[in-house]
Amino acid sequence: MAARVIDGKAIAASMKERIGARAMELREKGRPPSLVAILIGDDQAAASYARSQEKHAKEAGIEFALVRLPTGTTQAEAAEAIERLNRDTSVHGIMPHMPMPRGLDGFELQQRIAPAKDVEGVGATNLGLLAMGRDALAPCTAAAAVECLRSVVPDIAGRDTVVVGRSVIVGKPLAMLLLAANATVTQCHTRTRGLAEHTRSAEILMVAAGVAGLIGAEHVAPGTVVIDVGTHRVTLIDANGKEVTRTVGDVRFDEVLPLASAISPVPGGVGPVTVSMLLENTLRACEKSTS
Ligand code: NAD
Repeated sequence: MAARVIDGKAIAASMKERIGARAMELREKGRPPSLVAILIGDDQAAASYARSQEKHAKEAGIEFALVRLPTGTTQAEAAEAIERLNRDTSVHGIMPHMPMPRGLDGFELQQRIAPAKDVEGVGATNLGLLAMGRDALAPCTAAAAVECLRSVVPDIAGRDTVVVGRSVIVGKPLAMLLLAANATVTQCHTRTRGLAEHTRSAEILMVAAGVAGLIGAEHVAPGTVVIDVGTHRVTLIDANGKEVTRTVGDVRFDEVLPLASAISPVPGGVGPVTVSMLLENTLRACEKSTS
């Protein structure tokens, strides 16, 4: 039997509805949740992402503003923009768009964001709290992958779970979130020997390797729940011999679909939930703030 396909758009929409209801309560108390994105330079993809963020934020009743800084902005000027937003009590979430223009240290700027406003969950404080199993603003993509998983496996406790990838913003926090939910976690990476042996032992397979089509039928045991975090734009030749551009994941969807018990597609899986998770973190930051 083919796998249940996890509908990330539906999960994201119901999250936005819940966020909207809570945002309305805060608004009525005169504390509208507010997210500010910072865009340095004129990267078209980032500008288009910012426009889509604005649309999603508005749909969820979250105020959104975009601070645009020119390409020649210095590290000190960018730092000052972040410090200003840190001090502004009407702002609950700050999100600098990456990548930044050459010459700017994006990591250093991210670490300047006040932990209470670090809604992407990429600062040392939030990652440290997450590692300690404490309440934290968790990185949005990792949290979104867990949200997709919970839509088909509400109780993860004790489940044999394999995470492929160990990046600071996805793989590591994903493993930490799964551990916090009492899963038994194996983490695979580029130096793992016998990847397929590990992945075939999984009841739950979470893939965040950043390699298009890395995981195929040979990696997946029948009945596995597969969550694909990877996102890649690739150019393919279609059945008519025409070049077409498609978004694909780290998992060869068509191969794994007949084996898995549930699978998140790309596009339409973890991606849309990630956007809602940023709004959820903004709402939580607002709820916790005293302003
Ligand atoms: P990254 O390149 O920083 O990290 C990839 C990790 O995978 C590394 O830890 C590496 O050790 C591991 N890896 C790479 N090749 C491997 C292999 N052959 N075998 C085993 N492990 C391997 O990437 P990232 O930032 O963690 O992102 C991972 C993927 O998730 C990318 O495709 C990215 O585009 C996607 N992503 C999606 C969203 C979303 O909203 N859906 C958000 C962020 C990232």
